[in-house]
Amino acid sequence: MRLMAFHRVEVLAEPLLTPPLPDVLYLFLGEIGPAVGFLCPCGCKTWTYLRIKEGACGPDREWGYSFHDGKLSLTPSVLDRRCKSHFFIRENRVEWC
Ligand SMILES: [Zn+2]
Repeated sequence: MRLMAFHRVEVLAEPLLTPPLPDVLYLFLGEIGPAVGFLCPCGCKTWTYLRIKEGACGPDREWGYSFHDGKLSLTPSVLDRRCKSHFFIRENRVEWC
């Protein structure tokens, strides 16, 4: 089943040591970041890991992002060729294309 929104953002300064939860966006900062990781919201549970940079416009190398009040947005959309998912993440919501 398609996820319509991630429930929260977990900010991490080190790699994930436990299996990721399907409704959490992981924001990696510090030496390993910045990057965003999440399980594909289509339900296929593929781990997706994107390099990000504030002000970038991606997606050739890095996605642009903003993070305010616990809400994460990515620019531009995410296209996963493995499961053919295409969506935006805006303020933790999944906007399907
Ligand atoms: Zn998927």
